[in-house]
Amino acid sequence: MSEVDILVVEDEAPIREMLELILGQAGFTIRSAAEVRQAASLLEQRRPDLVLLDWMLPGVSGVDWARQLRRDRRYSDLPLIVLTARGEEEDKVTGLDSGADDFITKPFSPRELIARINAVLRRYGKGEKPALISAGGIVIDPERHQVEIERHPVNLSPTEYRLLEFFLTHPDRVYSRGQLLDRVWGSNSFIEERTVDVHIRRLRKILARFGRDAMIQTVRGFGYRFSAQTH
Ligand code: CA
Repeated sequence: MSEVDILVVEDEAPIREMLELILGQAGFTIRSAAEVRQAASLLEQRRPDLVLLDWMLPGVSGVDWARQLRRDRRYSDLPLIVLTARGEEEDKVTGLDSGADDFITKPFSPRELIARINAVLRRYGKGEKPALISAGGIVIDPERHQVEIERHPVNLSPTEYRLLEFFLTHPDRVYSRGQLLDRVWGSNSFIEERTVDVHIRRLRKILARFGRDAMIQTVRGFGYRFSAQTH
């Protein structure tokens, strides 16, 4: 198994140390920096497999640096995940054009962090053999693209598969149709937002066979939320 090298950029020492601990325990090789200048010099020394950077940093912000990296031909394809705090949620819209592959809102669980790092790495064809992703009776084998619901194999189209995988790795948050298009279909796709509804409907139909369609919730005026805890 090849080593996966992650560069962490976070100015708050306790959070940085926590990230080093979580990622180290998950088997990643970590280098960390407290601000962008220091991170840039680590980046020059050796190209990491992924950069995990905080939005709010002293000097150049994480989002601004992400933008700079995307414009740099050497790093335009470097996997980037941006950490945000709750209050910065609204800024996500402006952050989307930063080219970051994912945004993780603090506080997050170690499990969620690792799952999302692995999801981004997989998108780039990197990373360790992926673990199974599971929630609420649904089990996804990302390597084989196989899905089981309550131990019954189900067939999904590639788009429905990606949508379900996105939901399982991004639970309990609301995503607009536009955000889902960006994250599941890719920001270069020119697809109408209505398409999202069509695929959500199909996915719900499949989940309904197992009485689990309530896991995909419509949030009126905004979009959709996946939650494994349905009561
Ligand atoms: Ca910060």
